[in-house]
Amino acid sequence: MSANVQTLLEALPYIREFHGRTVVIKYGGAAMRDEELREAFATDVVLLKYVGLNPVVVHGGGPEITEYMERLGMEVRFHEGLRVSDAQTVEVAKMVLLGKLNSDIVQRLNRHGQPAVGLSGEDGSLFEVEPVPNADQVGFVGSIQRVDVDVLNHIAADYIPVIASAATDRSGNSYNVNADEAAGKVAAALGAYKAIFLTDVAGWLEDPEDPASLISRAGVDEVEAKLESVAGGMRPKLAACVNAIRGGTQYAHIIDGRKPHSLLLELFTRAGIGTMVTP
Ligand code: ADP
Ligand code: MG
Repeated sequence: MSANVQTLLEALPYIREFHGRTVVIKYGGAAMRDEELREAFATDVVLLKYVGLNPVVVHGGGPEITEYMERLGMEVRFHEGLRVSDAQTVEVAKMVLLGKLNSDIVQRLNRHGQPAVGLSGEDGSLFEVEPVPNADQVGFVGSIQRVDVDVLNHIAADYIPVIASAATDRSGNSYNVNADEAAGKVAAALGAYKAIFLTDVAGWLEDPEDPASLISRAGVDEVEAKLESVAGGMRPKLAACVNAIRGGTQYAHIIDGRKPHSLLLELFTRAGIGTMVTP
């Protein structure tokens, strides 16, 4: 049998397993910045929709927001992994997230053959946010209290929802929201089958300095127990995995978005990649 036929046959049981299921994908890192990887990502997401899955994309845009702030001569500061956000910072973040990144992703998916709809926390009151507990240090960074999935269920019936991680509170203040947190909470609220986080490392590493120390599988209790000891951007990602699983998601994955088509590899081949978190 040819290798191509072999590959298709290998995918069949997975296509059957995932048919009609919702998969929340956190998009970020190199996969969002490199042109070739952007195209590969769009192809993958569109393919998921074609074979009967329900993909929902959630994205941030850290590096691009920083780049635009620098162009505008604004000061960029982080505190414990969170962007210190005054009202002006949030304004720029929102312009970059919605006006540029979100619309780029939407048009790319459209172009590959599956219409997408872009939205953020305000649309259909998707996210209800409150300032994070250390708001006195970081400013307008929001924590999601509730996700109203009604708007997503409407859109996902026909389109691929693409969610930018920004939100507004009841008084009309805008907030930055960590995109991992947003993805985990959307997955939980939708009762998604899977939540997949694309990042710029192989997955959750036992030793962040050692790429060979990949933890390929972990139970949600183990992840929760180790959460406090994890640093940097990996902590909100693992916390989001915990959130998703506690909310009823079956599998959460952290995968290497620097590899083209990592989504397809994870979903449709036996060669599971990255870190898988299970209930
Ligand atoms: P993303 O854009 O995917 O959210 P982040 O930079 O926020 O990327 O988070 C991923 C980063 O977390 C990694 O690039 C790495 O520098 C850091 N990190 C800290 N601890 C770990 C760990 N134990 N395993 C993997 N990455 C870790
Ligand atoms: Mg991050």
